[in-house]
Amino acid sequence: MGVTNKPDQLLAQYSDISGFLFSGSRRTLYFILYTTFFIFLILAIKNYYLGYTPLAAMLFAFVCLTSIDTNAFHKGRTLPININIIVSTLVLSLVLTIYYLGISTTVWAYPISIALIYLLPEKPAIIFNSIIFSFVTGYYFLNLDAITASRVSFSLFITMLFSKIIANHIHKLNQDLIYESIRDPMTGALNRRQLSTYLDTSLANKKRNNINSAILLFDIDHFKYINDTFGHDVGDVVIKKLVDTIKKHSRELDILFRLGGEEFILLIQNIDITTTQEVAESLRKKIEKECITNNHPVTVSVGVCTSHSILSSDTWIKYADTALYRAKNSGRNQVQVYSSSNEYVNNNFSSSNS
Ligand code: GH3
Ligand code: MG
Ligand code: MG
Repeated sequence: MGVTNKPDQLLAQYSDISGFLFSGSRRTLYFILYTTFFIFLILAIKNYYLGYTPLAAMLFAFVCLTSIDTNAFHKGRTLPININIIVSTLVLSLVLTIYYLGISTTVWAYPISIALIYLLPEKPAIIFNSIIFSFVTGYYFLNLDAITASRVSFSLFITMLFSKIIANHIHKLNQDLIYESIRDPMTGALNRRQLSTYLDTSLANKKRNNINSAILLFDIDHFKYINDTFGHDVGDVVIKKLVDTIKKHSRELDILFRLGGEEFILLIQNIDITTTQEVAESLRKKIEKECITNNHPVTVSVGVCTSHSILSSDTWIKYADTALYRAKNSGRNQVQVYSSSNEYVNNNFSSSNS
């Protein structure tokens, strides 16, 4: 078990499936697409007038398919043409260009292979570049002496290899930046900025599919006392222990956020009110049992609110906070649930029973 603050799952949401530049700047992507569009259109017309009709047709197919996808991308729609089909027309255009126009046109293999590395996901980029490399190298060895062929083949290989290394480096930096921008550095929980996005998605899910979610708002009891008595460092250890305990005893899909200070929100998807109460109570007990620091028992109060009648993420947090406030006022170390009818559901498992 564990909380889904899993880097891979979360980063997948942020990094686009379509390669590195897609997850970077849209303007750069548009620049590349429009430049490619015009260059290939001119090449298609030129080759048509030169009589190389299959090559002109392939270049034109590439231009048309690219513009269909660019248009859909611009409007935020799913891409109608599979990117691998478009790249296939590009690679075939290169093959036909070399076939019709000779060895000097093999220079096109360089910018195309670099572009593929930066624009495509890893696997198709490797496959298409292997095809380009095999074809161009084969062509070199058939048309040049062995030493020259080896030399130019090696230069193409080095170009592809270095592009891949640099692209990997940029991708890693990008992933690290995303990771840091969405998480609290001390605990690894998602930061507050992420909270409303996730809550909005849960509310939309409730509206569309009638799937309810719940939030559990945790606040450590008398935390100032822990800081004042044992020091700020011990306070930090307590916060980390709390997060570890919640992670250890949550489900894979539950998501933990640090709201600030020693307050955390656990978002649980697809759950009813009774189960939410049981989960919250079970977590409260686990924390009481496992978070003891410097022989001092650490307890939490928990405010719970399900998404039943919630309209906005702000209201949702506010209601959970109201429930938490009541838990604090009723003696702490307990769970209080805010019900949709704005009445509190009394917890059957109050701290005195534990
Ligand atoms: P209550 O039971 O009513 O919650 O009392 P409390 O003492 O826990 O009060 P409150 O929740 O307001 O305490 C927040 C304290 O948490 C104040 C602040 O100094 C401390 N704090 C906030 N962030 C951190 C942190 O990152 N590390 C440490 N050690 N302390 C923090
Ligand atoms: Mg607090
Ligand atoms: Mg507190």
